[in-house]
Amino acid sequence: MSRTKTSKAWMREHVNDAWVQKARADGYRARSAYKLMQIDDRDHLLRAGGVVVDLGAAPGGWSQVAAERVGPAGRVIAVDLLEIAPLRGVECLQGDFGDEAILATVQSRLAGRSPDLVMSDMAPNMSGIPGVDQARACGLAELAIDFARTSLTREGALLLKVFHGEGFDELIRTLRGAFLQVAVRKPEASRGRSNETYAVGRGLKAV
Ligand code: SAM
Repeated sequence: MSRTKTSKAWMREHVNDAWVQKARADGYRARSAYKLMQIDDRDHLLRAGGVVVDLGAAPGGWSQVAAERVGPAGRVIAVDLLEIAPLRGVECLQGDFGDEAILATVQSRLAGRSPDLVMSDMAPNMSGIPGVDQARACGLAELAIDFARTSLTREGALLLKVFHGEGFDELIRTLRGAFLQVAVRKPEASRGRSNETYAVGRGLKAV
């Protein structure tokens, strides 16, 4: 199928998608908001007053849910390569999380406070070359794991997008090395045919 036909088919499916319609009706910027709600309803990662760092946050669906659930006493720091339009209760930063400069900005915003939750929905721009895309996705997941293990509170948690395929088992092994509990979740709002899945790591192991 040509690229144009593929993207037309994607757009048609997207527009007709029940989660897209619900997001529009409920005022969320992206259908992905429901993925986070469904994971959080089960795992209770977002607590009132909590500090959350949201990596790969644009357009802001996860950040909206996080800000609602941590409430006014909490904080949400959101980072993306793309600009995130202002959101109530969310500190939006633009930059590549692989760059030292943006990491330093996040750390300075945290001002010595450790986050309770790091969440990463980061995904690379897909090239269509499976080996390349999967390697990039794994690289982004590693960035999030490194940040989580060096910044989270002891009881903190990481919610991480991971794609099934080459490198998946290795990432889960890395998570099991860093966290006391690791679970894999596929929320109902995540498209069944997508190989994306979410790993939840809780409780940092002592080093
Ligand atoms: N969770 C978001 C929401 O609910 O609106 C959707 C995130 S979208 C699936 C993935 C995002 O990862 C994209 O906006 C992309 O720009 C971002 N991203 C990819 N690589 C990144 C990087 N190196 N640093 C920061 N963001 C990145």
